[in-house]
Parts: sequence; C-alpha cells; structure tokens
Amino acid sequence: MSILVENTTKLYGKQKALNQVSFEIPSGEIVGFLGPNGAGKSTMMKIITAYISKTKGTVVVNGFDVDKDPLEVKRSVGYLPEHNPLYLDLYIKEYLKFHAEIHKVNKERIEEIIELVGLSPEQNKKISQLSKGYRQRVGLAAALLHDPEVLILDEPTTGLDPNQLADIRNLIKEIGKTKTVLLSTHIMQEVEAMCDRVIIINKGEIVADKKLEDLLKDQEQIIEVEFDLRVEKQLLQKIPNIKTIDNIFNNTWHLTFDTKNDMRAQIFDFAKDNGLRTLQLQQKINSLESLFHNLTN
Ligand code: ADP
Ligand code: MG
Repeated sequence: MSILVENTTKLYGKQKALNQVSFEIPSGEIVGFLGPNGAGKSTMMKIITAYISKTKGTVVVNGFDVDKDPLEVKRSVGYLPEHNPLYLDLYIKEYLKFHAEIHKVNKERIEEIIELVGLSPEQNKKISQLSKGYRQRVGLAAALLHDPEVLILDEPTTGLDPNQLADIRNLIKEIGKTKTVLLSTHIMQEVEAMCDRVIIINKGEIVADKKLEDLLKDQEQIIEVEFDLRVEKQLLQKIPNIKTIDNIFNNTWHLTFDTKNDMRAQIFDFAKDNGLRTLQLQQKINSLESLFHNLTN
C-alpha cells in the first residue's frame, strides 16, 4: 500500500477540518481527491506529506509512519503545494539546483527532469518570465527531482488556460504510469480526464470512494419524449435497453436506459415504426458532475 490513512481527524483549534478520514491507495494508482473549497483536501495532503501533524489517527506513506519517520516520508513523496510557491527571481536551473541540494541528487538529474517535464525550450529563463503553465512544470520538476514513489499534487491545474490545462493533464498522466499520484481538484471533469479512482470529501468527511469505471457504469441516460398520439406502455417496453417508463402528462414520457449508447435515433425509429410522430425529445446523461453535486450539496 502506497498511502494508508486510518481514522484521521484534524482540529485547527476548535474547528474540525478532518473527521475520521480513512482510505488506502495501492501503488500505481492515480487518484482524484475531489471536494468543494474548504472540504479539507489541502489539510489531508499536508498531513500525508508530513508538513503538519494530525490530531488523531494513523497515516502511513510508502511503509513509513508520518509521526515516527517524517524524513523518510518526505523522501518518498513529491509534493506540489497549492498555488505552487516559487522563487520568481531565480532562474529555473538555480531553483532546481536548490531543490537538488536539499535532496542530495546529482546535477545530471536536473537536466533529465527538465527534459521529462517539457521545460527544455524555456530552460534558460527566470521563473518570473514563465507562463503559468510553465511555472507548473517547474513545480512538478521540483517535486519529481528525487524520484519519489508517491506524488501529492494540490490543485495542480487551477488557473491554467485550456491549452496549458491539456498539456499539464497529459504530463501528469504520463508521470502517473510509474508513480502513485494523489491529486486534488474541485472539478469533476478533471478526474474523468486523469484518474483511475475518485475519493470525494465534503466538510472533512469522505462521502464517496469509487473506481472511475464503476462510476461510469452507474451513469444513466434519461430521455423525455413527446409523441403526437397516445401510446401504450407495453409498446414502449419494446425499445431496446429501456429501464424505466413513466408517463409525465398526456403523450409525454420519461424514459431511462441502462446504456451509454445514444438512444435518440432508436426513439425516432420506434415512433416511425408505430405510426407516431416525435414532437419533442430531450436527452440527459446523469453525469459524474451531478453525482458530485448530490454528494456535496
Ligand atoms: P480545501 O483544501 O479542501 O479547500 P482546507 O484543507 O484548506 O480545504 O481547509 C479545510 C478547513 O480547515 C477550512 O474550513 C479551512 O478554513 C480550515 N483551515 C485550513 N487551514 C487552517 C489553518 N491553518 N488554521 C485554521 N483553519 C484552517
Ligand atoms: Mg486546498
């Protein structure tokens, strides 16, 4: 197990930021840590990286207990904090050299990591001269220098424009092939784009922990359709993959399907084959987005 969190509680004074949080992440998984602002994501990440202490519970990273072996934990973990604090006046290479010295890694590794995160074209610049996307690459490079087993990325894509977003997501996916990654975000699509699994936190408590493929399986297709004439429910049952049939009013029906394949064309064909005309049709996919809203509202 790469990350083990058991019954972890964190109090800031009287305020409970985490309440009995438990989860396990096996090595090699990319896990999205999703929750609204103030849910406790950064707090959990700072505890996992041994930056702050917890009030109660057990946290073990790469086999090391955060209380007993904080230095070993820091050696095992690459951490990109929220807002990616950087020294803007330093050149990229100076900044990475500073990190290399902390972790006692050699100079060749700096060249290697610059290449790996795609910083080569900008490598002779000052950090202040870089776009937000390239600054994120510098943060990722610093987190990866000592080749940690586990990567903790706190909102790594917040504030990026759409192109930078795609680049950084691809980079994280690539890095995730060889590492355990826990990344926080408040955007559901982000999890869909990058992760194998999602852990949803709300008000300091875990409210969902699911593999992405299972979440996708749970998705439901809803079609509301109005025909020009009356139709018997038994007839509608003949439409393939139909799950539930409800008559909302007159000739308008609320249908659900247990397939992600678009059923709209099938409904038109059904109408035509049965001498009906489709006056209105509206399709909705009950998405991950709505799951997130249901769990956190
Ligand atoms: P998230 O990262 O999900 O937005 P945080 O972990 O930053 O959430 O915060 C969780 C809760 O703990 C919030 O209510 C926040 O105001 C509070 N909090 C975070 N850091 C501190 C701190 N250093 N002192 C007091 N309260 C804090
Ligand atoms: Mg945060």
